[in-house]
Amino acid sequence: MEISYFQFPGELLMRMLKMLILPLVVSSLMSGLASLDAKTSSRLGILTVAYYLWTTFVAVIVGIIMVSVIHPGGAAQKEITEQTGKPIMSSADALLDLIRNMFPANLVEATFKQYRTKTTALIKSPKMASEEPPARRILIYGVQEENGSHVQNFALDLTPPPEVVYKSEPGTSDGMNVLGIVIFSATMGIMLGRMGDSGAPLVSFCQCLNESVMKIVAVAVWYFPFGIVFLIAGKILEMDDPTAVRKKLGFYAVTVVCGLVVHGLFILPTLYFLITKKNPIVFIRGILQALLIALATSSSSATLPITFKCLLENNHIDRRIARFVLPVGATINMDGTALYEAVAAIFIAQVNNYELDFGQIITISITATAASIGAAGIPQAGLVTMVIVLTSVGLPTDDINLIIAVDWALDRFRTMINVLGDALAAGIMAHICRKDFAQDAGTEKLPPCET
Ligand code: ASP
Repeated sequence: MEISYFQFPGELLMRMLKMLILPLVVSSLMSGLASLDAKTSSRLGILTVAYYLWTTFVAVIVGIIMVSVIHPGGAAQKEITEQTGKPIMSSADALLDLIRNMFPANLVEATFKQYRTKTTALIKSPKMASEEPPARRILIYGVQEENGSHVQNFALDLTPPPEVVYKSEPGTSDGMNVLGIVIFSATMGIMLGRMGDSGAPLVSFCQCLNESVMKIVAVAVWYFPFGIVFLIAGKILEMDDPTAVRKKLGFYAVTVVCGLVVHGLFILPTLYFLITKKNPIVFIRGILQALLIALATSSSSATLPITFKCLLENNHIDRRIARFVLPVGATINMDGTALYEAVAAIFIAQVNNYELDFGQIITISITATAASIGAAGIPQAGLVTMVIVLTSVGLPTDDINLIIAVDWALDRFRTMINVLGDALAAGIMAHICRKDFAQDAGTEKLPPCET
């Protein structure tokens, strides 16, 4: 049987994932940021969002360092190329393209194409002082003498060397300009929030859209195990040496877990200690139940009620702070997911022997942060938004199937770190804003905990 028939169920899974990106990113960012804006005028809102963005970015950097040091996918040997085998772009062009892609000239086109400068090497025939026709070979023959005695004949080649000209042309490449869509949706969300009541219809439309996309994701998840089996089997059939890939996959999983451990058990608790001067171990002990639920459900949203309960009952966090910081965190703050996305993208590049330049690493760090913000707090949502990161640097999105085999396990660990990040943020915000909230503490009713 043709391999492509065998791969068909897996291909369907990939098509489903890709289909969901656009509505998911647009609706979650627009509705999330619009509803946030009512509170961003307060100190808590601004501090929380700044803290979330910063820690997410730190998580991405940790991931990039780990994957660069451990190198689970083997040594890179070549640049990302098009079929022609020529480099698509230089680092400077990559950086400029990144900025250009942030501002798509055409939003409709941005849903299926992104801007990418194409660099081609042209070898020009030599010319004499730029005059036509092209110069012939110029050779001057002579005899070199030393102290009057004949030494040797010589020939001097005066032909101008061939000129290699690199020509950069504007172009587009297939694949969604997710960065542009993320920037546009985020800006729209912020503006809608500022518009107040007049923006409400569009905000509720986006909320509706987001909820319905979530429901589609929930249905698609049922198909995942079936699609995954065929995706992996199809990929293995294509491979020359499946054992080598299995070994690399093991190293990849170890890299992600090491990164999560460094970020979750060292960086975040240290930050908590430095800001609050309180013992982070005591704090983490208070949310152990929530961490276990995160491990079991792979969903930070599903864990939210337990996280509330733990923070209020065990860590005595002001409920008004928890009410704001936790839901926003479950939507936009996913340190574990961001770290995993950066590691996975670079791992895929390594497996394919692609060498990423500095501009591409920066693109990965920005898009991994954006992708984690766009990911929902549900099982394997990070796998959906993973396509964003891969597309942004021209890596093969189909290679997501390489990491799917271990994703169910890694998802549990990264969800724990997502929940831990939200909870510690609530602890830090409670400390920083303690004076603002000190006056009328305890006057509100406890929020319902759907445990
Ligand atoms: N499962 C994660 C969460 O709910 C999201 C992901 O990374 O897939 O936080």
